[in-house]
Amino acid sequence: MSYNIAIDGPAGAGKSTIAKKIAKQMNYIYVDTGAMYRAMALFLIRNGVTKEDTEKIEQVCKKADISIEYRDGEQIVLLNGENVNGLIRTEEVGNMASVSSANGKVREKLVQLQKELAKKADVVMDGRDIGTCVLPEADTKVYLTASSAVRAKRRFDELTQKGESCDLDKIEQDIIERDHRDMTREISPLKQAEDAVLVDSSDMTIDEVVEKIISLCK
Ligand code: C5P
Repeated sequence: MSYNIAIDGPAGAGKSTIAKKIAKQMNYIYVDTGAMYRAMALFLIRNGVTKEDTEKIEQVCKKADISIEYRDGEQIVLLNGENVNGLIRTEEVGNMASVSSANGKVREKLVQLQKELAKKADVVMDGRDIGTCVLPEADTKVYLTASSAVRAKRRFDELTQKGESCDLDKIEQDIIERDHRDMTREISPLKQAEDAVLVDSSDMTIDEVVEKIISLCK
């Protein structure tokens, strides 16, 4: 039986940074489910679908084949065979993903892929509905959060470091909007699973959070 760690939480809580480190230390596979929703969002944008076009989202998503590969331990998302890793980390794609991920057909496809990955290997999987829907039987479940101000500041620093100019207030507003959409949608909303441990990373370092989660697994 494979060991499964589920990490859910709002945007910018540090899920992927933490999950990657845990995967490395424990020699598990890191599954970034947000990247799959982002790849689907990219496909929709490329096909001229707008956020308001809910009906079109359902039609167009059928034409996207999303799969995952691992190269040198890094997760590569393939959209109809094309490596889209370098194209999905923009605010535009993230905002579209938070709209299109509310669609049942989009979720159906991607959740199936996620379940298959977790069956085959020891995984650390992060997302919004991993502990509640994708892996309800996960061995360790964490709900990782931080205040919206802290999350916005982290995102701001990350973008500034990359040389992108951005506005801190606008980032915080986007984060609040995205969380609201993710928490209030009908299908698989973001919420803490009953048996998940709440970790607030506002005043914790990355390594402290990693240690805390690894100790929960033991
Ligand atoms: O985590 P990340 O910001 O990459 O996720 C992008 C969007 O994908 C989220 O805002 C959320 O709407 C959606 N998502 C989801 N379920 C997941 C992972 C991500 O609905 N398991």
